[in-house]
Amino acid sequence: MEDRAALLARVSADSGTEIKDPATGEAIGRVAFGTPTDVAVAVEAAAKAQPGWAALSDEDRRAALMRAADAIEEHAEELAYVVSREQGKTMNGLGARYEAAGCAAWVRAAASTPLPVEVLVDEPASHVELHYRPIGVVGAITPWNWPMIIACWQVAPALRMGNTVVQKPSEYTTLTGLAIAAVLNEALPPGVLTVVTGAGDVGDALVRDRRVGKVMFTGSVKTGMKVVAASAGNLSRLTLELGGNDAGIVLPDADPRAIAEGLFWGAFINNGQTCAAMKRLYVPDTIYDDVVDALAAVTAKIPMGVGLDEDNALGPLQNQMQWNVVNRLVEDAKARGARVVTGGDPDTSATGYFYPKTLIADIDNSAPLVQEEQFGPALPIIRYTDLEQAIEWANAVDVGLGASVWSADRDEAAAIAARLQAGTVWINAHGPIDPRVPFGGAKHSGYGLEFGVEGLKAVSVPQVING
Ligand code: NAD
Repeated sequence: MEDRAALLARVSADSGTEIKDPATGEAIGRVAFGTPTDVAVAVEAAAKAQPGWAALSDEDRRAALMRAADAIEEHAEELAYVVSREQGKTMNGLGARYEAAGCAAWVRAAASTPLPVEVLVDEPASHVELHYRPIGVVGAITPWNWPMIIACWQVAPALRMGNTVVQKPSEYTTLTGLAIAAVLNEALPPGVLTVVTGAGDVGDALVRDRRVGKVMFTGSVKTGMKVVAASAGNLSRLTLELGGNDAGIVLPDADPRAIAEGLFWGAFINNGQTCAAMKRLYVPDTIYDDVVDALAAVTAKIPMGVGLDEDNALGPLQNQMQWNVVNRLVEDAKARGARVVTGGDPDTSATGYFYPKTLIADIDNSAPLVQEEQFGPALPIIRYTDLEQAIEWANAVDVGLGASVWSADRDEAAAIAARLQAGTVWINAHGPIDPRVPFGGAKHSGYGLEFGVEGLKAVSVPQVING
């Protein structure tokens, strides 16, 4: 049998900061964190490599990315092992293997999506074409929740379009960032994809580097705003995939038992540490108790524990900071008199950042657990009597990444969906994504699109050839 720990050992440094498994506290490797000075060196190398990479034909770049996707598949179990050990997600279910498989799928999609020259005018006296040219060096900054796949979302389209990339993984999931880059680099020429490790100061230096023409940033709203400010002097192009506080609205005609599993995974995928997870659920008074009961029944069946245990479907939170956020919001909800349906009672003496699957019912819409992004396994379920009120509540936050409507009547659901301020609104689901379908946020959830042909256009400079 292959050694699934081989890749983790390969990317781990001999000295530096010790990295611990969030489920067990066990040391899994070391990282030598970089500094802003390392950014300059990496960008220099990327700038040098870029003209050669751009000079290849689109066919050649596509072929290299296809080989990179093959490499991901060859190392899928090792990649899954790294992300499970460092991020905490389970190998099974919608966890580490699922993330590794998604990486291959998205890299393939970036390689195979057609982007033909667009003929805008074709008349006897005028011929106008729209081409998409490389930008140059792209800076790619990722968060810690889906650390492999988000890197692929940023890196693969940028490379396809003839850019080179300097990638900065989250300081919480550096080994995973190094691992996915090492595998991609098995198929890419030297200098085309470089990783710089480090924290916010390193990300900031990457954004401020004048040779970086585009920044792909995925992370919190707060940091996104810093990226906008730091990039102003360069007028860098930006794609900002920021935080969310997605609402789900159940309509009175929905069947509670039929939707319960979809509601659960919409909210609890990756333990709620997902940008477009359902983070608040609005349920009509007429079926409120039935929905809460059905959701509680599904919740009780989902095993949580160490990610390497094949029986588990949810792991720990990734870090103490996030554990504290979830705990604060749930404790506040309890103090306000909201009803704990299940969970809400973490064992603080246990090892690992485990927080129990928590459903909070009869909570006021103004509670911080509803108004703030919890990014963890605690779902507030808000009762409504007037659908107009629920729509108003759903829209009354600064962010607008995803949303969902749950109903037996698709047309009715689609009519409500059109009124929700979010980049994606799902009907009778929450969260499924597809490499052919553009993804991005509304309001403070950011701007710019990823995936599909729009995602390719976003990492290139449009050029009109007129004549
Ligand atoms: P974060 O904003 O704290 O960090 C994200 C990245 O930015 C990290 O690599 C970090 O080191 C870097 N960074 C920090 N300060 C920086 C600065 N001043 N300049 C440049 N880079 C800097 O976010 P996080 O806690 O890692 O991730 C969780 C957040 O990300 C949540 O809000 C979640 O909703 C959001 N998210 C959004 C999407 C999406 O597609 N919209 C996807 C995943 C996560």
